[in-house]
Amino acid sequence: MQDLHDSGINRSYEWRVEQLQKMRQLVLDNRTAIAQALYHDLGKSYTEAVGAEITLLLGEIDHSLSHLKEWMQPRHVGSPAATIPAWTTVTPCPKVGPACLILGPSNYPFSLSLQPAVGALAAGNPVIIKPSELCVATSKLLQQLCDQYFDPSAVKLIQGGIPETQQLLQEPWGLIFFTGSERVGKIVATAAAQTLTPTILELGGKCPAYVDAQHPPLQQMADRIVWAKFFNTGQTCAAIDTLVVHQDVVDKLVPALLKSLERQYPAPRHQSELGRMVAKQHAQRLYDLIAQVETKCPILCGGTGECNVDERYIAPTIVLNPPNDCRLAQEEIFGPILPIVTVSSEEEAVAYIRNMYGTPLCLYVFTQRSAVLNRIRLHCPAGGVMRNDALIFLASQDAPFGGLGTSGYGSYHGKYSFDAFSHYQTCMTRATGPVVAHWFVPREAVAGWLVH
Ligand code: NAD
Repeated sequence: MQDLHDSGINRSYEWRVEQLQKMRQLVLDNRTAIAQALYHDLGKSYTEAVGAEITLLLGEIDHSLSHLKEWMQPRHVGSPAATIPAWTTVTPCPKVGPACLILGPSNYPFSLSLQPAVGALAAGNPVIIKPSELCVATSKLLQQLCDQYFDPSAVKLIQGGIPETQQLLQEPWGLIFFTGSERVGKIVATAAAQTLTPTILELGGKCPAYVDAQHPPLQQMADRIVWAKFFNTGQTCAAIDTLVVHQDVVDKLVPALLKSLERQYPAPRHQSELGRMVAKQHAQRLYDLIAQVETKCPILCGGTGECNVDERYIAPTIVLNPPNDCRLAQEEIFGPILPIVTVSSEEEAVAYIRNMYGTPLCLYVFTQRSAVLNRIRLHCPAGGVMRNDALIFLASQDAPFGGLGTSGYGSYHGKYSFDAFSHYQTCMTRATGPVVAHWFVPREAVAGWLVH
């Protein structure tokens, strides 16, 4: 990979397009195998596999292909008066280092291993991809496909768990793009600091949704909440973690949610489109979260009695007002459990969200009043905000996606990915012929400026 950098071939438009087209072909040729691997690892339905992991990735590749030439153009910018005549350009260049390292998560193991690579390749960087070891079938397939479609000097896949990842983290990289938990994000950032490797951290956390007393049409809102919560069986970084609901709404909202759940995941629920937890230990963790509150607050549907940890099946479970000190209220849920917390005012909602969620990746507000949205946005910092729906806004290729504070740093998608993996290099050329104007400031004058 270093040889490739030294040759400069990876800087060309043609090299970048070739890599993106190879990735496009890899996805198009293998849709069935990809969906099968995702079903094996996560019990992911075909609809979800195609919608979330294949279509979004293809969209990102096509968007990059159609804008790449324009993104790569050097930009002419002004030069300071003291340098005139001079010409200054700003050019996006690949990062230094043999390659960029992409560490993928377990919940969208196919698309979130490849989607960051779209930005890296578009920006002219070779990449090393390390997918999640929890997704055995998807990692194996990715290995086979990367070996088959790419030259190893451009894209190389390395499989492995914690020891292998920690080995990779010893090396200097052009950039490390990490998607995963806050806990591991800190390990990655600490290791990267030793080699001064820049990092982008796309982390998790608890994303709240506030339901205002003046909310959108009830059943439509409930349908959207259920979809956004239980998509990928709740294993989505941007999923609604907890509903914070105005007390005047909760009695109407609960039956609407139950109706919607029945419509989207009809009984027998374990045979519906619901997937499975990625690993047995994750199913056990979720089971324990429910068990801890089962005798302390109302369980409106689901519960431990409907779960089967051995089969990695967690039943959709709705919990009303769990105590603030339980694990369900404290930890990122990352599964099909929906706590509902009632509040008596918007101010109480703001205080609860700030106190319990820190700086979430996403914040959702269901309200018919713009003033409510704006006040909550002002007081509750979050990576991204969506009004009157959830989750789907991250499909945009024209807007950045990323967290802040505890939900990470850096952002990507579309041009933002290209920028994330580029170094913007300034190059100024000064005239050497007869000088039109020469700016010379005597030292005494500068000293005078400082005094006054
Ligand atoms: P994880 O942090 O356990 O693992 C992510 C990656 O880190 C994997 O490749 C894994 O092999 C590696 N890893 C794990 N432990 C490590 C260690 N001790 N040292 C070095 N590397 C290690 O996360 P996960 O369970 O795969 O994914 C779920 C988490 O990811 C959730 O918190 C979720 O919110 C978050 N997530 C965030 C986004 C986003 O875009 N912000 C997207 C998807 C998932």
